[in-house]
Amino acid sequence: MSSLYVHVPFCPTLCPYCDFHVVRRGPGWVEAYLARLREEAAILHEAHPDPLKTLYFGGGTPSFLRDRELVALFQALPWGLRPGAEVTLEANPGTLNRERLRLLKDLGVNRLSLGVQSFQDPVLKFLGRAHGRKGALRAVELALEEGFRVSLDLILGLPMQNVDQDLKEAASLEVGHVSAYTLQVEPGTPFALLGVEVDPDKEAEAFLRAEEVLGQAGFVRYEVSNFARDKEEAQHNLVYWRAGFWLALGPSATAHLPAQAPLYARRTQNPPLPRWLREEPPSEEAIPPLEHAKESLMLGLRLREGVEVKAVEARTGLSLWPRLEGVAQALIAEGLLLREGSRLKPTPRGLVLLHGVVLRLWGALEA
Ligand code: SF4
Repeated sequence: MSSLYVHVPFCPTLCPYCDFHVVRRGPGWVEAYLARLREEAAILHEAHPDPLKTLYFGGGTPSFLRDRELVALFQALPWGLRPGAEVTLEANPGTLNRERLRLLKDLGVNRLSLGVQSFQDPVLKFLGRAHGRKGALRAVELALEEGFRVSLDLILGLPMQNVDQDLKEAASLEVGHVSAYTLQVEPGTPFALLGVEVDPDKEAEAFLRAEEVLGQAGFVRYEVSNFARDKEEAQHNLVYWRAGFWLALGPSATAHLPAQAPLYARRTQNPPLPRWLREEPPSEEAIPPLEHAKESLMLGLRLREGVEVKAVEARTGLSLWPRLEGVAQALIAEGLLLREGSRLKPTPRGLVLLHGVVLRLWGALEA
């Protein structure tokens, strides 16, 4: 248990496509959030005191907190950090300046995940973002100058977006990591109500271009949506994709924790802010060994490194190969998977057709 996710739910404005658990700050809300977080952290730390290898502040917009609130946020966490620990904070370009970056550095942040989304003003306007192209480039420049590892979030395949231009701009910067997403128009969001639609062919094309353009600049697509230069992979997110365990704090935050046999794990989710402030307990989902095996396949096959089936067998005590082998062979013959020892890896075509690949492997496990 050496990874911790902290959810900071506050945002300056609510983007019309967002369905995360976010709120604008109301009077006294941040103070109440910090007080509750301090209590929750103290209890969690007592049960899981190990120093952390990865610490991730997500949201919302953690960088939207004021300086003294950021200091209080870090003071609320009693964990130590292991040498070389990765400490990531999600930030909007408009919330950063040099003083703010220096404060974050002093607090121990060493990696920034910047919600740039695009470098094109019309696209940023369409997305309802508070920053423009100039602000995005300035934030990247300052963050690099101050010595942060930088990851850019980009949304690809948007109406009026010149995808190549955005990709080339990202590739030309000295950032180590790019997370590329497509716009999900979730029911109930303003975009859904406005009838905004995304063209799936345009999205697929955008990802092919991302692999090409970012690849030429030294980025490897190490996960379906994530590209990294050498040694710049997101260590915290790798814990998720490798189906590891992590702790979580804050409203709506989800944790994946070990459980007593015959279960393998349990997933807990805190309630949204108002109920979390009232100290309502998290909801809990039991994960039996077979469910964990299915999750490990689904998540592991998102990664270029794939999934080590023997390791999943060792964790769960289940004999998986005899069940998987026939379907795995067929998927290999179809050019969708590769096998290295007991490791299954997706081919580039397998990544495109990943959903179907996973369903067929799950079918074999359940048969
Ligand atoms: S900044 Fe991010 S978390 Fe906040 S509203 Fe926009 S998309 Fe949602």
